Amino acid sequence: MTRRVLVLGGTAEARELASRLADDGRDVTTSLAGRTRHPRLPAGEVRSGGFGGVDGLAAALGEVDVLVDATHPFAATMTGHAAAAAARTGTPLIVLRRPGWTAGPGDRWTRVGSLADAARAIPVGARVLLATGRQGVEAFHDVDAWFLVRAIEAPDVLPARAELVLARGPFALDDERALLDRYGITLVVAKDSGGATEAKLVAARERGLPVVLVDRPPLPPGVDVATSVDDVLALL
Ligand code: NAP
Repeated sequence: MTRRVLVLGGTAEARELASRLADDGRDVTTSLAGRTRHPRLPAGEVRSGGFGGVDGLAAALGEVDVLVDATHPFAATMTGHAAAAAARTGTPLIVLRRPGWTAGPGDRWTRVGSLADAARAIPVGARVLLATGRQGVEAFHDVDAWFLVRAIEAPDVLPARAELVLARGPFALDDERALLDRYGITLVVAKDSGGATEAKLVAARERGLPVVLVDRPPLPPGVDVATSVDDVLALL
């Protein structure tokens, strides 16, 4: 039985995985980047802060039987480091990636490849719910639109015309409806994160609002991908 599991975390499914591994009697450590001042803590051991690149992570894998990368789908640097360090040290790696979202009837989505492309897709004068997280908000700085920026912690810079809402998802559908209505939102900009934060997309669909959705960065080639916590447990 695999005993020592290192989970690269920072997501709800990483917390669920840690909890189920701990319940199974496995020795689980979750690694957090240390960006959020008051993170929701998982079961088991927790370490915080970067490893110091691929070399640092490879060194840390000496004490580990299996590495699970359960970081956010947009944490591409960490995922790349995990693949490189696992390959170098011969450590088995499972990448846990929840599925992305799929447009349904009534959705008015424009998919783009980056935050910069999302900024270019915003019509002049739009009232935008910017729900892409704290990092990367600077890409929208010079856009001629008004922004409701929602993030867990304040971004370093805000667009020129913006209001900040500090909040941690997932959000209830009724709350998303109320937010769109209260601020007269005409466009939603989000990452294709997948998972439980889709209420904003449902509320946008109900109102016939367009959504600019940023596509996920690609995974490193050749990694084993699980799409749910159950899949990871089966693979282990
Ligand atoms: P990133 O750009 O892929 O990683 C940048 C650096 O941060 C990495 O090279 C690593 O530093 C450190 N790092 C990232 N995740 C780490 C982890 N779990 N444990 C230890 N070090 C970590 O990452 P990011 O997009 O800034 O995301 C940071 C964290 O926030 C991740 O844990 C991710 O799951 C979570 N998160 C990200 C998003 C998003 O939209 N990007 C959304 C929600 C949650 P070293 O090179 O020094 O090891």
